[in-house]
Amino acid sequence: MIPSRREQDTEFAKLAKRLRRNVGRAIEEYNLIEAGDRVMVCLSGGKDSYTLLDILLELQRKAPVSFHIRAVNLDQKQPGFPAHVLPEYLRSRGVEYDIIEQDTYSIVKRVIPEGRTTCGLCSRLRRGILYRYAAEHGMTRIALGHHRDDILATLFLNLFHGGSLKAMPPKLLSDDGRHVVIRPLALCREIDIARYAEARAFPIIPCTLCGSQEHQERRRIREMLDAWQRESPKRIENLFNAIGNVKPSHLMDSALHDFRGLGARATPAAGWLVPVPGMNEEEADSAEPLPRAASLMSEFED
Ligand code: SF4
Repeated sequence: MIPSRREQDTEFAKLAKRLRRNVGRAIEEYNLIEAGDRVMVCLSGGKDSYTLLDILLELQRKAPVSFHIRAVNLDQKQPGFPAHVLPEYLRSRGVEYDIIEQDTYSIVKRVIPEGRTTCGLCSRLRRGILYRYAAEHGMTRIALGHHRDDILATLFLNLFHGGSLKAMPPKLLSDDGRHVVIRPLALCREIDIARYAEARAFPIIPCTLCGSQEHQERRRIREMLDAWQRESPKRIENLFNAIGNVKPSHLMDSALHDFRGLGARATPAAGWLVPVPGMNEEEADSAEPLPRAASLMSEFED
């Protein structure tokens, strides 16, 4: 049965409230925006960045502190980019904005061989341009539209391919210490954002203009997470909660937890790396670890 107009309005009101609440929670919990901040909202023309801008504009009216918003789009000169769409939209909303025109598309096409993924270089170039703009215009926060599902996908990319336990933080200081990058949608589900963008009828610019597909492996991970979501939605929720509930004492990073000092009665002795007869150090390191006894595993798992 098709929902009535009234039911649709109620659904949309609930959705908008949920998104505003999640953005508000993220801002408060991670101190994303402070009084007097100049927030540069990076607008690509996709559903996420439109939603980010929309919700921030809404919150700005009711926020406990006053802050400034400027939308910034980088026109990378991809063939067919409809350059009129964003200015028309932003003017209609009365939002202060800038369009930076820089042909990174040609650079990427020239440097990356045909068939290889272009996103790595493309995003590095984009980041450099946006950081420079932020510095030149006194922007104190750079807001990006990444959401909960981007964060989870990044977590698994790093687990599967980076060998490290890290995702995408809601707030990040750039390597040179000059920029604070914020992700106010960090607690929002992609499905909510997609529904919101559809209901608000944002003039979406397709993200396939550059001819590059989303990074293959990221896409595979998204499919894996989508399948988990269908099988057991609670699993995704738990996974997401887990990255905000970390117990370094139950992981294995000695830089985060002083395992060596734990229960030590004296300075820990060195010289435990006994050479393996007939193997050099590299061979010994790559040798298969011995299977651990099941009884020992269960005893020490907690
Ligand atoms: S999808 Fe295209 S525009 Fe987006 S990062 Fe990749 S190469 Fe750049």
